[in-house]
Formats: sequence, C-alpha cells, structure tokens
Amino acid sequence: MRTSLTASHVLGHRNGSHVLFRDATVVYEDDVIVHVGHGFKGAVDESIDLGHALLAPGLIDLDALTDIDHLLLDSWHSSEAAKGLTWSGDYFTNRRRDVFSPQERQTIRRYALVQLALHGITTYMPIASEVHSAWAEDLPELVGMAETSRELGLRGYLGPAYRSGVNIIDDDGVRTVLFDPPLGEAGLADALAFLDYADALDDPLVTGVLLPCRIETLTPELMRATAQASAERNVLVRLHSLQGMAERDYLAEAHSSTPLQMMASAGLLNDRLLVPHGILIDRHRSIFGEDRGDLATLAAAGVSVIHCPQTSFRYGSVLDSFSVYKEAGINLCLGTDSFPPDLVRGMDAGVHLAKLADRRSDSAPASDYFDAATLGGAAALKRPDLGRLEPGAQADIVAFSLSDFRDGVIDDPLRTLLLNGTARNAVHSVVAGRTVMANGTLPGVDLPALAAAAQPIFEKMRGAYSERDWRGRSAAELFPSSYPAAD
Ligand SMILES: [Zn+2]
Repeated sequence: MRTSLTASHVLGHRNGSHVLFRDATVVYEDDVIVHVGHGFKGAVDESIDLGHALLAPGLIDLDALTDIDHLLLDSWHSSEAAKGLTWSGDYFTNRRRDVFSPQERQTIRRYALVQLALHGITTYMPIASEVHSAWAEDLPELVGMAETSRELGLRGYLGPAYRSGVNIIDDDGVRTVLFDPPLGEAGLADALAFLDYADALDDPLVTGVLLPCRIETLTPELMRATAQASAERNVLVRLHSLQGMAERDYLAEAHSSTPLQMMASAGLLNDRLLVPHGILIDRHRSIFGEDRGDLATLAAAGVSVIHCPQTSFRYGSVLDSFSVYKEAGINLCLGTDSFPPDLVRGMDAGVHLAKLADRRSDSAPASDYFDAATLGGAAALKRPDLGRLEPGAQADIVAFSLSDFRDGVIDDPLRTLLLNGTARNAVHSVVAGRTVMANGTLPGVDLPALAAAAQPIFEKMRGAYSERDWRGRSAAELFPSSYPAAD
C-alpha cells in the first residue's frame, strides 16, 4: 500500500538536517517513507492533499502526560499552601489508598492518549501522577494502557512507574520522604514483567522501558537494580532528577550525595538514561553559580535531557539555558509533562524563555526546538528512523494546518505555527504508515463520551486531596476559585 501526502510546506530531511520544501509530497509504502520532495513519478494507492499546511515529522513527547489535568490545581499556590497537595505522614502510614478504580484508571489513560494523538504527538513515553494511587503503577494498568495505545495507533515507550518512597509532609509541616522498600522491589518486578510482555507482543508500536519515579523516592538498591536491568536487557531508563533544591537537599542529608553522584554510583549515568527537566545543576545560582563539571559529566555519559518548557514555565522555572546545554553536547529532547500536551505551545514558550535566560533574541530559535521535538527525541530513543521525513525513515508524520484566518500570514511556516498557532492546528497524523488522525479527528473515538466520563473523574480526584492534606482542609479551601463565587 502506497500513500502520498501533499502540502504547501514540507519539513523534510537531507544530509542530517531538516530542510523546507514548498508544495511538496511525502510518499510512504506501508510503514516506510519512500520519497520526500518534488517530482514523484510512481503510482500510489491513495493520495491526500492537505492544502495549506506544514507536513512535519510526528512529534516525540518523552514526558507525556497520561493523566487527567493536575496543573490546573497545583500550579498556583504559595509554597506553604502547596504542602496541602502532598501526602501527609498519617495518610502514608494509615490511610493510603487508590482513589480510582482500575476501570477509572483505564478511562484516564484513554482520555490522555486521545489528547496526545489530537495534539499531533506520534511517539510518547508516559508520565502520570502517583499521588492518587495507593503506591505507584502496576502491570495490569500498563498492559491496559498498551492495549489502548495500540488501538489508537500511537508509538509508546512504556512501563509501570515504581518507587520505594513517597514525598510527604510530616505532622510539623516539614517535607520529607517516607519509605517502604519492598513496594519498590515489587514495582521493579512488575516493570520487568512488563518488559517481557512488550517483548512477547512483538509490536513495533510498543517498546518496554524502565520508568522509576523521582530520584529522591528510590533507594540506592532500587537504583542499582534498575541500572543492572537496563544494562542486561538494553532498555532505556527515565529518571526524574535535577529538579530542584528540595531533591538536592534531601539526597545530601539522606545519602551525603548529589543527584549526579547518586546516579553515577548506581551505574545509571550512561546513554540509556533520559533525565526529565534537568533544571538544576552546579552552574545555577542556587548551587554554585558556575560550571563545575555537571554539564560535561552529563554530556560525556550521553544522557538525554527531556526539556519540558511549558511545564517548567508554568511552575515558575526555566532551563538555564537551552543553548548552554546544547553547546555542552547534551542531547535535548522535549516533553509536555502536564496538560495540555501541546508541544507547539511548549516550543513557543521555550524559544521565548531561552531569550530571557540568555538575554539574547537568537538564543534558541524555532529550528532548535523543532530539532529537539523530533531529532532529539529520536536520538534519545536510539531510533535514527524516527523524527525525520526522508526515504527509509518510519512513516510517522503530522500535518499542522495553516489555513485558519487566525493563523495569520505565512513567511517561515515553523515560525507562523509557533508564534500564531498551537498543537490544535494538527489535522492529520500517521504512525508507522497507519492513519491515526484524519480531518482533525480520531476515527472511532467518541470525544463527547470521553469528556463526559473525564469530568466526574477529575472531580473525584480534586475531592480526594483533602483526605491527604496534613491539615485536613476541604477541597473548597485547598482550591479556591480565582474570584469568589457569586449567587
Ligand atoms: Zn516530569
């Protein structure tokens, strides 16, 4: 089966770099691209004209929210009030439970994966909050998500999240981490079982990976076991770390180590490691304010940093800076990490935050961010056949329409999309040669039904914060509206 997609603008790839074609075509046969550019002479079974649009490699989101929104609830409190959104010590010890039924968890996953697809993401590595679970994620939950993912046709790098401990607020209102290490070992066992499951599926759309939770919630033993499994089975590891001073202070006190020292001694510092955020290293003001080698250590190890510009921005921080990390030789890829999973808005935020961080308007142009969203993600996944439109690459493609009056005029289509559009401009997508989105919709997916199912689940989630709050405040007290409600 041979298909051609034509559009006014095509982001192709030639000699190791993205290139822009005008009025061009991408032809793919089954799951592989056979032609990009002008003058294709062969016969095709189907040809689709996407008109005034940018045809680009499908976006790769390596910290992809597979949850219902929580940033809506937790991005605007004072640091004191934010303590109420964490588990209390009492909840950890005596009352922890799953807020959702397994059925509701699957609805949440479906809702989130549909969101990813509608935002033009074709490859993803999931992240979901564990705050609503009795501990973390288990094998059946991830098997269910993998099934939904295959049904929708997305390319997933999946595994259950696991941890040995949980960040809590103690009775005195102090942040710390409480541990139950056997639960971490059980979580790793589920993660290894998922790797077996993914291998047995033998489906190119499902790859098993190891997704431990934040570094401060892992015992050194669990980190070592993770590193060992990664080496033995040659699978990727994603570890949330270098995220902030609370993490760093906790590791200094508990293990007399920095986050990078912990990763190194566990055997995790290698090119199978992906670090989301990576915001805080020695060059930053709150540590030494000068580069004492962290960047070189990360670069020499071949670690990829999953930059999540929109989420960082919304929680009040910034990668300082994209250009410094890039020049140090670190592979930068992108993640959404929170709702909405909109990498177009993420790239736009990133371009502008980079200007502020470096005090230079040309610090990280649109091309740097498009590279991160495509080639950087592919490099992190060790998949040179992803993230680019050129013959021999996988047919993972997204089209962003530029035809809406509100998109404005077009000069460079990437700049128009980033400055004037959002990922809602996505109208068509293909993964491994299969159409996922057509005419801006996902065939067979009932969006009104999914939206109707998601709202009560969100309200249940919102209500459950109060049982975990160390001061037992109601949801109304924890989440006051922007203005007082009127009668
Ligand atoms: Zn994250």
